[in-house]
Amino acid sequence: MSNLGFQTLYRLFNEVPSCVCERAFLPENSEILSLESQSPLSGFDVIAFSVSFEEDYVNIPRILELAGLPVFSSGREDNSPLVMAGGCAVSLNPEPVADFVDVFFIGEAEASVNGLVERLSQFSQRRSLKGDILRELSRLGGVYVPAFYEFTYDGCRVKEIKPLGGARFPVRRARVEDIDAQPVPVSAIITPFTEFADTALIEVERGCPRGCRFCAAGFIYLPPRWRDRGAIERSVKAGLKFAGKAGLVGAAVSEYRGLKDVLRKCAGDGGEITLSSLRLDVLDNELLSLLRKAGYKTVTVAPEAGTERLRKVINKDIPDEAIWASLERIKEEGFRKVKFYFMVGLPTETDKDAEAIAGVAVKAKSILPKGAKVTLSINQFIPKPFTPFQWAGFAEQETIERRYGIIKKALKKEGGIEVKTLPVKGAFLQAYLSRGDRRSGSLISLASEKGWRGVLKNFSSSLSASVFRDREKDEIFPWDVIDTGLKKSYLWNEYTRGIEAKATPPCDVGRCFRCGVC
Ligand code: SF4
Repeated sequence: MSNLGFQTLYRLFNEVPSCVCERAFLPENSEILSLESQSPLSGFDVIAFSVSFEEDYVNIPRILELAGLPVFSSGREDNSPLVMAGGCAVSLNPEPVADFVDVFFIGEAEASVNGLVERLSQFSQRRSLKGDILRELSRLGGVYVPAFYEFTYDGCRVKEIKPLGGARFPVRRARVEDIDAQPVPVSAIITPFTEFADTALIEVERGCPRGCRFCAAGFIYLPPRWRDRGAIERSVKAGLKFAGKAGLVGAAVSEYRGLKDVLRKCAGDGGEITLSSLRLDVLDNELLSLLRKAGYKTVTVAPEAGTERLRKVINKDIPDEAIWASLERIKEEGFRKVKFYFMVGLPTETDKDAEAIAGVAVKAKSILPKGAKVTLSINQFIPKPFTPFQWAGFAEQETIERRYGIIKKALKKEGGIEVKTLPVKGAFLQAYLSRGDRRSGSLISLASEKGWRGVLKNFSSSLSASVFRDREKDEIFPWDVIDTGLKKSYLWNEYTRGIEAKATPPCDVGRCFRCGVC
């Protein structure tokens, strides 16, 4: 409910006079109705899913089923509602859910929402024209109609992607060129019983200049685009008044040039301003002090890897000394809680890299004041489309469990350090769905009825074959049907530089053209 992309679309659709957009969520009981007018979903012209996480794929067939609609698009009549999907997960790779969806919106919806609504209202008036409307929609930027593309396979691999009837190939993702020409995305609805129930979220920037090689959010929203400081200040002030707390959102918030000014002007009136996570090497005393005045209590940082070598592999080239120096400053500014994000299972990682994660926690504890709390949140690396690590295999369960064990054992006798890890099975599923192809749809549909446990038991060997293997350099990927602007050759070059532990400098917008996006 709190997702800013979802909320922005809700607002944009409702701003079009001819359009009414309502919300619906997977219910706990068996009936699904829209929230606003309590209407059955089958009575709407369009059902549009916002999908940020692969774990939600299984809920698409569940919702369609509860709405009384055939789950597979091939089984729906022309007069059925049009089923659309957008959001981060499907913009990276729509193929695993392509059999359920009539139309995908790939990328940033603000870029074409008016054209989209115009064509959808034609559909609303003449549903019998579904085929024609789909054809027209497919001419819009960012629109992918899976029925117009045929995939053939060779074992685990895609053999060929064939556009049908002159469909565009590849489909260019939609991108907002001038983000200041659009209103700042802010939470339009704040409701209890949700994440961020008391926080107005505000998007301060989009895309990240740093090029961390595992990070999908950093790559697919390139180039980095920073919003006008005045607009952010106004949004933060309004958000604080409206919700009491403002949350600044973006992949590189701590590098936002106007951040200190925004904090200076908006903090201290009783409201709290929070940031998702901070980059360790930009934390100076002034920023930390301003954050403290803004009510920030736990400093959250993401070194991601324990050794300098592995941080070069992932292109997060922060020396140990810079981490210790930042921790000194965190102490000086009076913070008593520090949370670290780390990953295990990264390409080239060894057990020594895992030991070093524990070492960072111990060192942090020794720098921070007595009684301070250190939390390690450790996730498993999942290779994502449109990142340099899209070619990398997913680490075996045994390796991950051993590395979690190494970290936990090394910290067993240390007080004040909490270690949080996620279940290894959940990560496996996410790894499968992230790089899945259209054939994943039948398994997702099965899982929507019987749960993933049974599916994993019966199909584990075919899933493993897809998840654990390194991809070949020239392999066709299911997501090659999408063009994000990133050159595949650039991503491959970044992958090989990563394996060789070579760091790449950040974006230099206006002077750099290396990845193809600018
Ligand atoms: S072309 Fe250069 S500046 Fe532009 S997004 Fe790519 S790496 Fe960044």
